[in-house]
Amino acid sequence: MSEERLSFQAEVSRLLDMVAHSLYSEKEVFLRELISNASDACDRLRYAALTQPELSADDPDLKIRLLTDADAKTLTVADNGIGMNREDLIENLGTIARSGTAAFMNKLTGDAKKDIGLIGQFGVGFYSAFMVSDKVEVLTRKAGESQGWRWVSDGRGEFTVSEADEAPRGTRVVLHLKADEGEFLEEHRLRRIVQKYSDHIALPILFGDAADAQALNRASALWTRSRNEITADEYKEFYHHVGHAFDDPWLTLHWRAEGKIEYTSLLFVPSAKPFDLFNPDRRHRVKLYVKRVFITDEAEGLLPPYLRFLRGVVDSEDLPLNISREMLQHNPMLAKIRAGIVRRVLGDLVKKADDAEQAESYASFWENFGAVLKEGLYEDYEHREQLTRLMRFRSTGSDGLVSLDDYVGRMKEGQDAIFYITGDDIEALRRSPQLEGFKARGVEVLLLTDPVDEFWIPSVAEYKEKKFKSVTRGGADLSKIKAESEPEKKEEEKPAENDLGSLVAALKLTLADSVKDVRISERLTDSPVCLVADEGDMDMHLERLLKQHRQ
Ligand code: ADP
Ligand code: MG
Repeated sequence: MSEERLSFQAEVSRLLDMVAHSLYSEKEVFLRELISNASDACDRLRYAALTQPELSADDPDLKIRLLTDADAKTLTVADNGIGMNREDLIENLGTIARSGTAAFMNKLTGDAKKDIGLIGQFGVGFYSAFMVSDKVEVLTRKAGESQGWRWVSDGRGEFTVSEADEAPRGTRVVLHLKADEGEFLEEHRLRRIVQKYSDHIALPILFGDAADAQALNRASALWTRSRNEITADEYKEFYHHVGHAFDDPWLTLHWRAEGKIEYTSLLFVPSAKPFDLFNPDRRHRVKLYVKRVFITDEAEGLLPPYLRFLRGVVDSEDLPLNISREMLQHNPMLAKIRAGIVRRVLGDLVKKADDAEQAESYASFWENFGAVLKEGLYEDYEHREQLTRLMRFRSTGSDGLVSLDDYVGRMKEGQDAIFYITGDDIEALRRSPQLEGFKARGVEVLLLTDPVDEFWIPSVAEYKEKKFKSVTRGGADLSKIKAESEPEKKEEEKPAENDLGSLVAALKLTLADSVKDVRISERLTDSPVCLVADEGDMDMHLERLLKQHRQ
């Protein structure tokens, strides 16, 4: 078959432009990306070979090689992993298949330092090869297939695919280096980059083709080493690799569970918010291994959805190695591992939340992931107590974040409820006329702006026997709480009850079908009127939210 010429998806072309120009200052990371892909490809072959050993039998020692050719000015990253066939090549190296591509592209700022993180997060690492190359060739053959394929591109909008004879199993990415990128032919330069970014890769990364070539990395799975032998930098690079993320981990949790069930977990809480946290598929990104063999990064039962911001690995000693991804879901062992992880993670988060010295750091965590954790309040009854301890709020009583205990501790005499108001925008909420009476009495009101707030509040209903009450509902009663700042009205300024009665009657008549009722209220001081929902009815903000979604 002759050569086939194809165009990159439009988003890929834009991305290639970005990668080639503004990310240039970070160019050495191309090697990390290619090694990371080679390692993933070996992981996938090892998994496939569990049920089809013939796939890797002819060349069973999985490894990565860096090969240089000074005359041709090429650097090759070669692996003997799963490989790709024609369809895989076109799908994987011509498009960005993930959901949210457009949203992602709009986030790129043109600032290299920021964008490299986004790009890595998005998983378009392969294209970084064009930072240092005029031309990239990929020679590959998929395990179990006999036909090899060659993919070639100069990164300017098009690529070609053609049949290749004599391709070994796996993938060779051949970089034709740009004229001034000769440094990437030097062993000591490559060694330094590997040690900086890829030391944790569990496969040997060899320099050269010789049978006795030496590994540039340590080549043991990082999570199997003991905590005190691992440096913060090593944890960080591992997080970058498994998490497809390039921020620093906010929290690193590494522990071994022993006893009835045995597993090792190395989990990270990011310090930056991943862009796809609220994608509809809401998947977590924790990789499941069984006895050091990668099984899947889509084990649904491994974590509850409200912990989907976690990154890292879980390596089980008990699950059977030949477990299929489908069978995993119903495996009782997995449920036990999940319970252990939830207990541990929430426990450590509570410690952080309770530590007054770390309040600022905790606030940044909460800003990133609070809205996700709140889903746990109605999805996971068992851990509700811990989850409520993690909660932080904006409120009228403080510029910073407050906890429910802070709030309850500041409640006024006669106050029997936790008052809140929901809306889209914090500043607009602060100005609501519904808050006037509360402000005048010095009663704190929680300001809630996450859509999820409409869902957990009715399900949680109360905290320490204080009911949550919306200030936009009729039932919020202020009459038992004494006003602090309301100036004593002079007798003659106070409208007579009778006058108010006839005003209310006149308003009812005029507004007729537009409102359910018109009432005299304690909740206003400056504004003459405000709208509230009846106690049994839907909260006003929720009603608006649902209308927006046409429900
Ligand atoms: P990501 O690794 O986040 O998926 P990349 O741009 O790095 O994104 O790679 C895109 C895809 O190309 C990979 O998901 C994989 O399917 C395929 N791929 C890249 N390199 C290799 C390789 N060495 N062997 C097999 N498949 C590969
Ligand atoms: Mg990759």
